[in-house]
Amino acid sequence: MNLNGCEHGEACRECRSAGSTGKASVTRYAKPTSLDEALALLGDAPWRILAGGTDFYPSLGNRPVRENMLDINGLDELRGITASASHWRIGARTTWTDMVQEELPAAFDALKQAAREVGSVQIQNVATVAGNICNASPAADGVPALLVLGAEVELRSMAGTRSMPLRQFILGNRRTALRPDEMVSAILVPREQTLGRSAFVKLGARRYLVISIAMAAARIVVEGHTVREAAVAVGACSAVATRLSGVEAALIGRRADGSLAEAVRSAPMEELSPIDDMRGSAAYRLEAAREIVRRAICAAAGTGIERSAA
Ligand SMILES: Cc1cc2nc3c(=O)[nH]c(=O)nc-3n(C[C@H](O)[C@H](O)[C@H](O)COP(=O)(O)OP(=O)(O)OC[C@H]3O[C@@H](n4cnc5c(N)ncnc54)[C@H](O)[C@@H]3O)c2cc1C
Repeated sequence: MNLNGCEHGEACRECRSAGSTGKASVTRYAKPTSLDEALALLGDAPWRILAGGTDFYPSLGNRPVRENMLDINGLDELRGITASASHWRIGARTTWTDMVQEELPAAFDALKQAAREVGSVQIQNVATVAGNICNASPAADGVPALLVLGAEVELRSMAGTRSMPLRQFILGNRRTALRPDEMVSAILVPREQTLGRSAFVKLGARRYLVISIAMAAARIVVEGHTVREAAVAVGACSAVATRLSGVEAALIGRRADGSLAEAVRSAPMEELSPIDDMRGSAAYRLEAAREIVRRAICAAAGTGIERSAA
């Protein structure tokens, strides 16, 4: 059966679509059951990878599918979270619900809180963490939480395996470093980045099913009563979600008490360059970002009861 549900296969005239050039084109659909098979297909022709489809299908609007579709939902080996001596490995088919249900160190709390904020439970049941980063929306809720974990992206192709930090993988709004012959096989979290506790705070126009106006994640390592390590990231306030190095520097060495909130008030946030759009003005976003960063840090440091949604 081809992508249009026709039994006649790819040669069926009904299923041919004429592009702007007037030339007929055929879209292919494949659902490989092994990674090797998927990589061989990717090496052979251009394909659009389909995971949960929750970004892909809405992006079509009323247009028909015009790309070859490589459905990765037959690749069981890509689903789930495993641990090795050096890394936590989040397989590319791991859904947000899988993430919520997995027992993980407290450093993953921000990612779990972000998981609960993605759309609705129905969306979380099929949508993948990897799909969220590959879609590269500035408002992707998973990205700040992964940035504070120092996440890396594992890319596979027939040519081999490479990995790169998430902050290098997302190049801009809807742009990634993924090559046409590659797919994301996993997200890797180095063990040394999983110390401490983390928290995530999302600001939206309403409580549920909402695209973020801004969101923040923080991971704080406290030794004695002092902050030894701080990782802070903000999304939807720049083309790509970003770590806030000035805020992180302002926290390290401080007592983990109310003084952290004070530090955030005056810390530089030069990385942020929000835009005006229908969800909020740039000035509002900047002010809101500082507040949700403060809440995320206080929650991660355990210095107050902070809600995970603003
Ligand atoms: C009603 C609704 C509400 C939503 N709410 C939120 C929200 O609150 N927060 C939020 O962040 N997002 C939200 N989303 C967007 C979406 O659910 C998430 O971004 C989700 O994580 C995408 O995962 P997916 O598996 O569905 O990706 P897909 O739609 O399958 O793929 C998305 C993109 O990534 C590519 N891709 C997927 N997997 C791979 C891979 N392994 N290798 C290479 N490329 C790949 C695809 O080709 C496509 O370009 C919402 C969507 C809907 C429909």
